[in-house]
Amino acid sequence: MKSIRLKPGKDRSLHRRHPWVFDGAIAKGRADAGETVRVEDAEGQFLAWGAFSPDSRIRVRAWSFDAQQRIDAAFFRATLARAIALRERLAIASNGVRLVHGESDGLPGLIVDRYGDTLVAQFGSCGVERWKDTIADALIELTGCPRLYERSDTSSRELEGLPQVTGWLRGDGPTALELHEHGWRLGLDIALGHKTGYYLDQRDSRLACHEYVRRLGLGEMLNCFSYTGGFTVAALAGGASHVTSIDSSGPALEQARANLALNGLDPARATFLDADVNASLRRFLAEGRQFDAIVLDPPKLAPTVAHAERAARAYKDLNRLGLKLLRPGGVLLTFSCSGGIGVELFHKIVASAGLDAGVDAAILQRLGGAPDHPTDLTFPEGEYLKGLVVMRKP
Ligand code: SAH
Repeated sequence: MKSIRLKPGKDRSLHRRHPWVFDGAIAKGRADAGETVRVEDAEGQFLAWGAFSPDSRIRVRAWSFDAQQRIDAAFFRATLARAIALRERLAIASNGVRLVHGESDGLPGLIVDRYGDTLVAQFGSCGVERWKDTIADALIELTGCPRLYERSDTSSRELEGLPQVTGWLRGDGPTALELHEHGWRLGLDIALGHKTGYYLDQRDSRLACHEYVRRLGLGEMLNCFSYTGGFTVAALAGGASHVTSIDSSGPALEQARANLALNGLDPARATFLDADVNASLRRFLAEGRQFDAIVLDPPKLAPTVAHAERAARAYKDLNRLGLKLLRPGGVLLTFSCSGGIGVELFHKIVASAGLDAGVDAAILQRLGGAPDHPTDLTFPEGEYLKGLVVMRKP
C-alpha cells in the first residue's frame, strides 16, 4: 500500500472528515490513477484511506477515516447498500430517484440515478473509475435493475485526466424513458439529455411552483432556462393560463413540447422560445411585458468559489430583470446551482437585485435540493442548489 504524506498543518480538513486532499497539501508520495493510498500526517499518523488522482488538483479523495477499513469489493457493496437503503426509507413518490450522491454518500465522484428499472451512472473521479466494474455489479445486484447506462461525459472527468465515455455498461434497452413525479409524466432521454437525463434535484421545487401557481391563482408564467419544461408542466397543471419557456437548447424545447402533450395540456397555453435568456428578458422589459410568476433556474455560473464574484454579477443582473418583469403580487422562483455561491451570498445577491430593480419584495420560502441529494455535514460544497420564492409586494 502506498502512502501519501501531508505537509505539517495540512491535516486539519481530514481531521474534520472533509474528503478532499489538494495537491498543495502533499509533502510526498505518488500512486497510479485511482489506486488506494494511505494518507498520513507529517508525523506518519494514519488519517484516511483514499483514491489517488495523479492529474487533478484534488489529488486524493477519501474513502474512509477508519484505519481498520479495507477498501475492497465488500466496502463498495456495503456503501452502495447504505445509500440505496436511505432512498428506500425516504420513499420518494417518483420513479426517478438519485441513489448515490457522490461525497455525501461516501463515494466521491459517483452519481447514480434510477429511472424506473434503468440506472444511469457518472464516474467522475479516478477512484470510482478504477472500481467501475465492482460498482456496476453491486448496483445491478442491489437494485434488481437489469440495465445500467454510463454517462461519464462530465467536465470533472477532464480535470481527472479521464476520457469521456457513454453507453450501456450492463444490459441494454431504450434510452428514451418516462419520469413520473407529482402525477405528471415527463419524457427524457438518458443518452441525449443533460446530466443523467433529468434534473431530479429540482423535484420538490417543481412541486412548490405548482402549489404557488395553484394557491395564488397565478396566471401568466415565464420559465427561464426551462430545459424540458418541468416547471412549465408544473405551472400549467396548477392552472396557469399561459407559460412562456425559454431555453437555448432546441432538443430540450422539443421534449418540453412533447411533455405538454404527454400530460394532455393544451399547446395553446404555451410558448417555447429557443433563445438566450438574458437577451429575451431585456427585450420583454423594453416591450413592457409583465408576468405573474417567473422561474429563473440558470446553469452553474460559478462552479467554484474562484468564479463567485463574476457569477454574482450575472445572478444579480438576471434577478434584477426578473423582479422588474414581475407584476405586483407576482412570485419569482429563483435558483442557483453554483457550489461557489453559498446560501447567504445568494440571499444578498437577490436582495441587492431587488434594490436595483426598485421593487419591494419579500422571501416567502427557501428551497433546496430534494432529500435524495443529501449534503454531508462534513462536505458543505455538496450543498450546491439553493432557491428563493420571492413575492413582489402588491
Ligand atoms: N429548470 C430545469 C433545469 C434547467 S438547467 C428543470 O427543472 O428541469 C439549465 C438550462 O439552461 C439548460 O437546459 C440549458 O440548455 C439552458 N441554458 C443555458 N444557458 C442559457 C442561456 N444563456 N439562455 C437560455 N438557456 C440557457
